[in-house]
Amino acid sequence: MSDELRELVGAARTFLQVHGRGRHFATGDWEPKVPRERAEAAPPAPDAGAPEEGPFVHAAGPVAAEDPSLASLASAPDMETLRVLWGECARCPLSAGRNHLVFGEGAVPADLMFVGEGPGEQEDLQGRPFVGRAGELLTKMIEAMGLTRERVFIANVVKCRPPGNRDPEPGEVGACLPVLRAQIRLIRPRVIVSLGRVSAQTLLETSAPISRLRGQWQRFGDVELLPTFHPAYLLRSPEKKKEAWQDLQRVMERLREPHG
Ligand code: SF4
Repeated sequence: MSDELRELVGAARTFLQVHGRGRHFATGDWEPKVPRERAEAAPPAPDAGAPEEGPFVHAAGPVAAEDPSLASLASAPDMETLRVLWGECARCPLSAGRNHLVFGEGAVPADLMFVGEGPGEQEDLQGRPFVGRAGELLTKMIEAMGLTRERVFIANVVKCRPPGNRDPEPGEVGACLPVLRAQIRLIRPRVIVSLGRVSAQTLLETSAPISRLRGQWQRFGDVELLPTFHPAYLLRSPEKKKEAWQDLQRVMERLREPHG
């Protein structure tokens, strides 16, 4: 390891000591613990501003295209170093309104990776992905698969909260995608589960509706990808949980298959 890289890794460790990696996980089945009427009447959860239908096609933002630091991401040897390289990012306007940059958390490498849309209010406050009501549901979904949050990796397409939980703008997504790609390279997942419309349409570079993409095996590079509904959408539309569970069962089957 070169001196430069050793310094970088040391800086990464210091960063993590300062910022911490607290983990608090909910348990139980993945039925929401709110009455059905309340779940249906609930406003959109903070970590999924996007409705599930409609086009969303990202484009590489001009900031990303001109950023010379992006080249170094490909050489990051581990997630801690990648986090340091990404820094207190201001590559898009979402940096202005954030409390925390929500980088993602979990196992590296991991067979299974979940990719949502972006942080919501609680995630922005705590600096961790999927910790609000939708996050509790995602935790239950993961546990229903016989896994734990510690055994998968959870991230979002954009790392900073869009104001008012709006959809991230194409330029914001384009600016943030390089670090998601670098994360996927380090995690080496066998399967990516994209959560919701924005994540699926971004990763697959399509404007196809989530109702068409959901439950259909796709590929992100050489990684298999299965789009399913966002947990926040499932809180609003609990009748869709059955389909989401079918998706997760297909993922479990795929992960049980021998891996070469
Ligand atoms: S959303 Fe991504 S690109 Fe934009 S400021 Fe946050 S980390 Fe940087």
